Amino acid sequence: MALTLYDTMARKKRVFEPADPARVTMYVCGPTVYNHTHIGNARSAIAFDLLFRVLRRHYGAGNVVYGRNLTDIDDKIIRASQENNVPIDEITAKFTKIYQDELSELNALTPSIEPTATSHIEPMIHMVSRLIDVGVAYEADGHVLFAVDRFDDYGRLSGADRDEMLAGARVEVAPNKKNAADFVLWKPSKQDEPGWDSPWGRGRPGWHLECSAMIEKQLGQTIDIHCGGQDLRFPHHENEIAQSACAHDGASLARYWMHNGFLRMGSDKMSKSIGNVLLTHELLADWPGEAIRWALLSAHYRQPLEWTDGLLRQSKRQLDRFYRLLEEIEFSDVTGPAPESVVAALEDDLNTPEAFAALHALRDSASQMKGEARTEAIRQLANAGRLMGFFNVDPEDWFKGAVSEGPSAEEIDALLIERAEARAAKDFARSDQIRDDLAALGVIIEDGPEGATWRRS
Ligand code: AMP
Ligand code: ZN
Repeated sequence: MALTLYDTMARKKRVFEPADPARVTMYVCGPTVYNHTHIGNARSAIAFDLLFRVLRRHYGAGNVVYGRNLTDIDDKIIRASQENNVPIDEITAKFTKIYQDELSELNALTPSIEPTATSHIEPMIHMVSRLIDVGVAYEADGHVLFAVDRFDDYGRLSGADRDEMLAGARVEVAPNKKNAADFVLWKPSKQDEPGWDSPWGRGRPGWHLECSAMIEKQLGQTIDIHCGGQDLRFPHHENEIAQSACAHDGASLARYWMHNGFLRMGSDKMSKSIGNVLLTHELLADWPGEAIRWALLSAHYRQPLEWTDGLLRQSKRQLDRFYRLLEEIEFSDVTGPAPESVVAALEDDLNTPEAFAALHALRDSASQMKGEARTEAIRQLANAGRLMGFFNVDPEDWFKGAVSEGPSAEEIDALLIERAEARAAKDFARSDQIRDDLAALGVIIEDGPEGATWRRS
């Protein structure tokens, strides 16, 4: 069966044909590691984790190379280091570990390579030199800038008018730009900023350069699939395309481009600048990783996904229904190919709503069976879920695990302390209110000689 993917460059679904089926290459633009990431960032990582799983199934696990970078040098990191008086590598090591741990709790597979920017300074300097040599980059006041009007295809991926694009995007400020859209390849570092020696003085790379240089070094001049959030189409991906093509005699950077839609809160994109973010580590404190993963995959990856508490509750409930059936089989020996219905949905541009519908159908039919046929159908169901990154918890542990409906244990404890204080102050209206509110959330308070305890009804 053919695997089809929506290619942003072609603006249509295309049958996916790798350049070499024995070495399929994909790359995802990863995070800047200076603080906690939010669940919108996780959406991008999880959508493309699913792509990685689908490619591994199709071409063989050993034949897919997945790179996801870590930006460990950047103005925001330098600022965080100066403000908190903590060395940069301490900050980046801490948040790299947190990011990797969070994604593994969301059952994301570890990419084949996770290159860091600071370990690719040499290929970056080499690429800048080459871009100057071929006449598409110029030096101005210690900066090296890429001249966008030297690359005819600039803007082809995002398809927008250049002035329109510029108006809506953050483009770095730099002195003596020939064109407002020219972007920074290399910039000077002040004494107290990290820097590397280069033909243009001590400095550091621009953000866009990292991905081009890391892809060249780790994956090759032209990769099969380049992925990222839709906000990265311009300027980041346009700039990557321009750098790589000009450094490689016109060879394209990627044969397919995939972009995920935004995770939203209400009508807004979840973003640090708006301040409406839910941090992944906070959600993981209250919910099983699989429930969050289920919620993240509930909408098709190119569509917007509206994030609500209800979505998480519903995702957990649905998983409970699957785990009830999975309890019936010997869980440790589930291995085998996923059923065709789920594979077909996923191979159609990662159509997760269809894949979930197929999972539900498999569950409904398994639950009507008896005997060995039932056991076999549940095994099939487990294989189907496993392909999507679910059903990795032993069912017994799943049901013993933290109760994710209603308030967390910490929230309840805090309310009980507030209630005790209200009672001590003889504010019985408040203490009764807290008891009633908790009761409405399914939490029962029992007063005893040792103070109040609680249980879920
Ligand atoms: P950033 O930290 O903003 O560079 O984002 C890291 C990755 O997460 C990029 O691929 C972004 O496109 C993606 N991203 C950021 N915010 C969202 C969001 N609200 N929904 C989906 N993806 C997002
Ligand atoms: Zn990138």
